[in-house]
Amino acid sequence: MLKLTPLKLSMSLAGTYLSLVAPDPYANACAQVETNPRAYLFARYLKTDKEDDTGDFVWKDPQAAAHAGMQLRHYLFAGLEEGFEVRAYWLARTLAYFDYRVGITSAFRDDYRQGLIRHGIKAAVGKSFHGGSRRGGFGNGRAIDLVSLGGSRKEVLKKSATLWAAIDRLGPRFGLGRPYGDRDPPHVAPLSSPEFAVAGHYRRHTLSARRHHHYKHRRVHIARR
Ligand SMILES: [Zn+2]
Repeated sequence: MLKLTPLKLSMSLAGTYLSLVAPDPYANACAQVETNPRAYLFARYLKTDKEDDTGDFVWKDPQAAAHAGMQLRHYLFAGLEEGFEVRAYWLARTLAYFDYRVGITSAFRDDYRQGLIRHGIKAAVGKSFHGGSRRGGFGNGRAIDLVSLGGSRKEVLKKSATLWAAIDRLGPRFGLGRPYGDRDPPHVAPLSSPEFAVAGHYRRHTLSARRHHHYKHRRVHIARR
């Protein structure tokens, strides 16, 4: 009777495993991007134009990563709190399943990176939930900015509006939402984040405005029937 030592047995199992997964390294790499949260999110990030009203900000994250002495991918996503990174991944995958083209303009930001924001909506240096030092810094980022991919800037804005509405519908299943509504639409954070308490007043306002619109619309609809 053939007797295998544990070492020989494990080597032969490893050989069988390799022969199953190794034949097509390319397909294997694609599958890894789909199923690895960090690889998936980073691929979405790379596909996204980093441009706003104040110009191109594509250089800012690489500069901040270099400043921190890290690879860009590691800086952006290992800087996020682990559970939040995984939730963001599942939200992005779900949106992709419903044919939304999810883009990411910002993930982890340290104080140095926050200091590179000169205009527009921004938290004080240190206080950003993207990972400011007063929020726990690296490994504690609990915010990600999601937009739609698309063609022209006008098209991106239009598609992003439907993406954000979809995030409002689907996000809560993953414990995620947009705390600032229309004031900072791409910003997605955990529903448990203090940001929702801070933004509560504003959110109540926009929600009631939306509800009002909904009922107004429904009345018109019913009247037409
Ligand atoms: Zn943000």
